[in-house]
Amino acid sequence: MNNLETNIKILQPFLTRFKKEGIGNNINGQPAPSSSGETFANYSPVDNSFICSVAKGNSEDVNQATLAAKEAFPGWRDIDAKTRKNILHKIADLIISRAEEIALCESWDTGQAIRFMSKAALRGAENFRYYADMALQARDGKSLPSPTLLNVTTRVPIGPVGIITPWNTPFMLSTWKIAPALATGCTVVHKPAEFSPMTASLLMEIADEAGLPKGVWNLVNGFGEDAGVALTEHQDIKAIAFVGESKTGSAIMRQGADTLKRVHFELGGKNPVIVFDDADLDRALDAVIFMIYSLNGERCTSSSRLLVQSSIAEEFISKLTTRVKNIKVGNPLDPRTEIGPLIHKVHMEKVLSYFQVAKDEGVKIAAGGARIGNEGWYVEPTLFTEASGDMRISQEEIFGPVLTAIQFQDEEEAIRIANSVRYGLTGYIWTNNLARSMRVSNALEAGMIWVNSENVRHLPTPFGGIKDSGIGRDGGDWSFEFYMEQKHVGFALGNHRIPKLGIES
Ligand code: NAD
Repeated sequence: MNNLETNIKILQPFLTRFKKEGIGNNINGQPAPSSSGETFANYSPVDNSFICSVAKGNSEDVNQATLAAKEAFPGWRDIDAKTRKNILHKIADLIISRAEEIALCESWDTGQAIRFMSKAALRGAENFRYYADMALQARDGKSLPSPTLLNVTTRVPIGPVGIITPWNTPFMLSTWKIAPALATGCTVVHKPAEFSPMTASLLMEIADEAGLPKGVWNLVNGFGEDAGVALTEHQDIKAIAFVGESKTGSAIMRQGADTLKRVHFELGGKNPVIVFDDADLDRALDAVIFMIYSLNGERCTSSSRLLVQSSIAEEFISKLTTRVKNIKVGNPLDPRTEIGPLIHKVHMEKVLSYFQVAKDEGVKIAAGGARIGNEGWYVEPTLFTEASGDMRISQEEIFGPVLTAIQFQDEEEAIRIANSVRYGLTGYIWTNNLARSMRVSNALEAGMIWVNSENVRHLPTPFGGIKDSGIGRDGGDWSFEFYMEQKHVGFALGNHRIPKLGIES
């Protein structure tokens, strides 16, 4: 992997281009400024330097984008599935050919370490490949014969859909949502997060270059309160796929109520990793550290609560503390960096506020607990110990490199603490007792559970949460279920009896 200096050198021409051209919307295959002419400034979290201006889309832009998506829909829906497949594979090819540029821009725009972003760019390509191949079977249905009818089902794409993405790993998440929507035959209006617009615009360029018909995929940049609201309220947008905070999910549900919007929500988490004393503790330690401190802790599936059995807590936490203090924080373009700056000053201040909450709640700050320097939005990797499950630091999503460690005596207590939060996205269990792993995974309130493993994404499996962590699932055919409508057709097999009305005098 390139060193820091080389990465800065490679990134420079892309930054020069972004600064010169800015980021616009893309509607009906045409780059466009916002209809109001307004822009907002995008800064790097690394040093708060200006990157570029970005079109500030509003309801008029959303309206135009939706109109384009509506007009393009019948053509894209009815095109041969093989053509859809080929275009999506072409998008994947182009992502791979520009993977370095995407990864560097993503790092600079979000503060995420390049060691993770280079993989995220490739994962984006995999998402397109996977759903490209699935496109051929998207319409497949069932045959459900009855004595009198041959009943068959098929699926049809729901129509133009709105996709709203957050600032954490924005490239990967955008591909994850957009690829299945396109594979089914839906058309898309994408509104990326205002804090991280760079790679969504690269992705749009790639889609154009891949030969996607005009209007099939439209991009409107802007803020949640105007472009986001307009998209969720638009009559012609049939569904909203949203990734972001739980409270934004609630707002979108309200905004979409009048138009009976179908929604798919991937929301917040406060995920437990439960370490029992019979586990492989070295592997558990690696996974605990990776799942909260990678991606700056700005990760919905992060294991932000460590539940550790009292019998091993002292030694486990001591080793954990040493490792956390050793994590390398630095420029995200440096391949040695493990944690980069947080996305934005506002978010950094939110994370820092929890250091005060921890002090007020009387827990021990075993590592970190402060901002680093005055330039860029860096915070120390932080570990709270001696916490209890009901504290704010154990209940609320901090969304930074901050781990809260809580001790438990036995299985029953571990399950009770694990389930005591409003969220239910993931759970991680470390034990070598097979029966216990089954009991605990059965009892945990979460959409996804890994036993003796960190989060390893396998695209055919369902991804999503329960409770306040979400509605619906991504992955495999579950994504298609969201973007498609079931249709049933019954063919009469003969002259079955039809009730006769109005014939008696
Ligand atoms: P956010 O909810 O603030 O913003 C997400 C997107 O929604 C942005 O594009 C924003 O502009 C838009 N938005 C904001 N208000 C809106 C409104 N009223 N109507 C329509 N759109 C609106 O979230 P964020 O801070 O960007 O992202 C972090 C959050 O995302 C965390 O809570 C994290 O757990 C969650 N997340 C969840 C998953 C998952 O799979 N469960 C994955 C990644 C991130």
